[in-house]
Amino acid sequence: MKNNAGKNEYIVLPSELHSFIYCPRYYFFERYMPHKLSLKEKIRLVLGRIFHMFYGLLDKFRGYSVESPIVVSVGNVKIVGRPDSYRIDRNYLEVIERKSGRGPRRGAWLSDVVQASTYAFALSYSIQENITAKVIIRYRNRAVSYAFDSDLANTVLKAIEDLILVKYYGILPASNPGKRCEKCPFKKLCDLLEKDPILKDFRENLLEPGDWIAHEKAPYIKEDALNKRGSLVDGHRERSDSKED
Ligand code: SF4
Repeated sequence: MKNNAGKNEYIVLPSELHSFIYCPRYYFFERYMPHKLSLKEKIRLVLGRIFHMFYGLLDKFRGYSVESPIVVSVGNVKIVGRPDSYRIDRNYLEVIERKSGRGPRRGAWLSDVVQASTYAFALSYSIQENITAKVIIRYRNRAVSYAFDSDLANTVLKAIEDLILVKYYGILPASNPGKRCEKCPFKKLCDLLEKDPILKDFRENLLEPGDWIAHEKAPYIKEDALNKRGSLVDGHRERSDSKED
């Protein structure tokens, strides 16, 4: 199947997967109808940048590659990104993903797990050896670490497959309402699509029903499941949801 640019190659950024898992429809809006950043969002971006630069310097000092670009082709998918920090020591790979926001009380936000695991997947794939990979997600309040295994690799591949349908074929995903909607810049439009009686036919005929796309019902790792396999390094408070760097 060719994409809507007539090509057989799909470029996927782990940061896009982060937005997509956070809410597939949010990602759709971000891609097709990007909004102008508010002052608050711009300030948050700058603070996030400073946060990353500070810890990036520390990681560099500890011998990690920091924000080094990676381009890895897996079949007709090209994964392009800059992991926050990683290091490879013989057959051992360690990936660090830093988030300036707070993590959930247990485990890690699913969107962060998929983003960080995509880096681990791409790097492991490019090394093509029998490598052991570990992922560490460092939140402002605590950190979570887990082994990257074949289950997570399958989750990454499924997420990539779903993202391609939205990114290259313009599928409008079902909404994924939650606390995240309160601060979503696309809320008005999203509500209109859901509720406006004039759009009833559009909804029935065009909207993807949501049985394959990444949302609550999809077979992705929940925070609790991650918690079973991962180990909390330390922890404090819970936050409702995350859309940070
Ligand atoms: S309002 Fe909620 S469901 Fe709609 S795009 Fe925003 S986060 Fe997603």
